[in-house]
Amino acid sequence: MEIKIEKTKNPKVKPKKGEPLGFGRIFTDHMFIMNYTTGKGWHDARIVPFQNLELSPACMVFHYGQEMFEGLKAYRGKDGVFLFRPDMNAKRANISNRRLVIPEIPQEDFVQAVKAVVKVDEDWVPTEPGTSLYIRPFIIAADSFLGVAPSKTYLFMIILSPSGAYYEDGLAPVGIWIEDEYVRAVKGGMGYAKTGGNYAASLIAQDKAHSEGFSQVLWLDGVERKYIEEVGAMNIFFKINNKVITPMLNGSILPGITRDSVIALCKDRGITVEERKISVDELLAAQKEGTLEEVFGTGTAAVISPVGKLRFADDVMTIKNSSIGELSQRLYDTLTGIQTGALEDKFGWRVRV
Ligand SMILES: *Cc1c(COP(=O)(O)O)cnc(C)c1O
Repeated sequence: MEIKIEKTKNPKVKPKKGEPLGFGRIFTDHMFIMNYTTGKGWHDARIVPFQNLELSPACMVFHYGQEMFEGLKAYRGKDGVFLFRPDMNAKRANISNRRLVIPEIPQEDFVQAVKAVVKVDEDWVPTEPGTSLYIRPFIIAADSFLGVAPSKTYLFMIILSPSGAYYEDGLAPVGIWIEDEYVRAVKGGMGYAKTGGNYAASLIAQDKAHSEGFSQVLWLDGVERKYIEEVGAMNIFFKINNKVITPMLNGSILPGITRDSVIALCKDRGITVEERKISVDELLAAQKEGTLEEVFGTGTAAVISPVGKLRFADDVMTIKNSSIGELSQRLYDTLTGIQTGALEDKFGWRVRV
């Protein structure tokens, strides 16, 4: 794929070293953009100065939500800037695309586009420990039309945002609200796709959890409200009786790349991993017996997020006295070590930009 590059004439002032970056508020100098037109396919791949879009108020994405997104990071290592398993994002993007009737993007073009735009804004990859350049590829339906149908034109864009360390003072356990009123997704719906609609559906429960003093929502299955699915933007793992258990991919759970990596790391260390249904009742029972050893979430943003407190109806389970589990800490150290190049990358997960 040929990518035209138009560099900005007015580079922005970059955040100063040590300045808090937060998440998703600062954007780099450039963005990637490519058009799709039915009959012509994907065309006009280009990197341009970061800018606002001009769209018709009738643009289809505003009305029926035909869009998808991805999320990955670039890390600065001693020997350059690296991505973590971008081929997995490219593959997952097309799984979302198929579900949303959005034209697929060849995997190699997706990865090439990510690498190219990160390369142009390489100086924006922050250097402080724990920081990274968050990469947000996304596609929107671009036709100006109010009929309910797949759009005939699309825009694929990639924007970049330097982001701060998720944990400023080391891993910190979070409190999680098990949601028993609202559901996120059901089998046959869009749960396995990374698309805005799933997030729109989740906001109400997130608000509720926040107002009760919990930072995230843990979703239950949409049919029986009995089995555990995943957290807002993370998959979930439990260590019970020395075994690692995570809900199996069932069509309503997002197949996380961090999830996949954690399973591979555990298996590599000889830890038993079970991908299966797990109910809230099983958790409550394990907690009573004292065999619920660790709970943690996995996702690109936090990598590993230890869970210290789980609330379900009138039960509040405190896990490990809200301290960080040994396995959670070890997985966090290993994954971030591989991502930054401090540890050997025996799985071949790092990709140079
Ligand atoms: C992105 C996402 C995850 C985590 O996926 P990673 O590839 O590990 O970042 C989990 N759940 C949902 C709903 C997500 O959107």
